[in-house]
Amino acid sequence: MDDRHPSPMAPMADDAELVIAGAGLAGLLLGVACAGAGLQVAVVDPQDPAAMAGEGFDGRTSAIAYGSRLVLGGIGLWPRIAGEAEPIREIRVADDESPLFLHYDSADLAGATPLGYIVENRVLRRALLERAGELPTLRLMAPRRILGVDAGEGGAVARLDGAERLRARLVAAADGGRSPLRRAAGIGALEWRYRQTGIVTTVAHARPHAGIAIEHFLPAGPFAILPMTGNRSSIVWTEDANLAPALLALPEAAFAAELGVRFGGFLGPIEPIGPRWSYPLALLQAERYWARRLALIGEAAHVIHPIAGQGLNLGIRDVALLAELIIDQRRRGLDIGDGALLEEYQRRRRPDALLLAAVTDGLNRLFSNTIPPLRLARDLGLAAVHRLPPLKRLLMRHAMGTIGDRPRLARGEPL
Ligand SMILES: Cc1cc2nc3c(=O)[nH]c(=O)nc-3n(C[C@H](O)[C@H](O)[C@H](O)COP(=O)(O)OP(=O)(O)OC[C@H]3O[C@@H](n4cnc5c(N)ncnc54)[C@H](O)[C@@H]3O)c2cc1C
Repeated sequence: MDDRHPSPMAPMADDAELVIAGAGLAGLLLGVACAGAGLQVAVVDPQDPAAMAGEGFDGRTSAIAYGSRLVLGGIGLWPRIAGEAEPIREIRVADDESPLFLHYDSADLAGATPLGYIVENRVLRRALLERAGELPTLRLMAPRRILGVDAGEGGAVARLDGAERLRARLVAAADGGRSPLRRAAGIGALEWRYRQTGIVTTVAHARPHAGIAIEHFLPAGPFAILPMTGNRSSIVWTEDANLAPALLALPEAAFAAELGVRFGGFLGPIEPIGPRWSYPLALLQAERYWARRLALIGEAAHVIHPIAGQGLNLGIRDVALLAELIIDQRRRGLDIGDGALLEEYQRRRRPDALLLAAVTDGLNRLFSNTIPPLRLARDLGLAAVHRLPPLKRLLMRHAMGTIGDRPRLARGEPL
């Protein structure tokens, strides 16, 4: 970010009202939400959209909290996703070989509302790209890269490769954990890498999963079994980063055997059916969520451990609030790049992200070890939560994203 030019190209008309750096899930969601409400939006990404929509791009599934499903509904995306989303009916959390476990059941909630949904990231991406292509006020510029942003009183100018410039009121950095725009704006971040790798794959099993998600805490980290459509489950296997490469390189039968030991036999024989993916795990919290005419969203603002399946849900809540603030400001005829708006965005979003960073980091530290006093403490903790229905319901509602500061989209209302 360069503040030396107080009013870059002030007399000229804007190319877009909002420029978004990054067509990942967070960036596309913000683009679709805002363009769906009539805003002129340009979304820029260095990756080819055809590759991003392909099978080989992202093997992850996302646990979409119930509150995030409401946001997707408010944006009009849910009907495109619903047929390929598996409702989560129960969550069972178990500690290694201990019989104590925490059990969340949607039957405990009024109306037996699902706790959330498991959706393949490629399904989300495909729905977003399709919708982006239909919106007349959304311009997807890819593969193109934003090289920098010059911001001043009069507006922001995004500099793209190929010497093109885009004038706008506001730039949203949805450019991922390494966020070149966050760094260029001089915004620092608290960050560290976990000595863990997330191994992701899909398995088919003989018996139906009945919508039950399982988080099994093993010494190297959590092993999650997430129900997908059909007799399939997505595995998020957190492993010691030094051991992961050897596991990922195992021949098919040996890899299946390693999986089987951790999976257990409760769904009958299992068979790995997809490629193996791996993701380095990290924590990151940006010191600020905004600079002049720049807002950080999604992993550009915060990266958390996937132990609770909440990273994208945080990004979806960023989008719900920022889109509401932008659209309301525009309806009032005011500047959507205004500092007071961006300050409000930060004030209302940062506590949620900080809380989840602390909780996920603490859980990972508490559970990814075999030290006996810690094992006892966590087992007693799990059992205590299990026996206190009001506390359990509160934790359940928090994980579902249905309490706290909820902008219109997070209540399932349109913008
Ligand atoms: C193993 C694992 C499991 C997970 N499971 C869950 C889960 O169950 N539930 C959940 O809620 N979350 C989950 N997450 C988190 C979730 O996947 C991420 O939070 C989410 O995908 C991040 O999306 P994003 O759009 O913020 O960033 P990204 O997907 O990183 O997108 C950033 C985009 O910016 C683009 N870009 C980079 N530089 C530039 C530039 N200069 N100009 C323009 N564009 C640029 C990149 O090409 C990229 O497309 C999981 C994460 C991991 C690792």
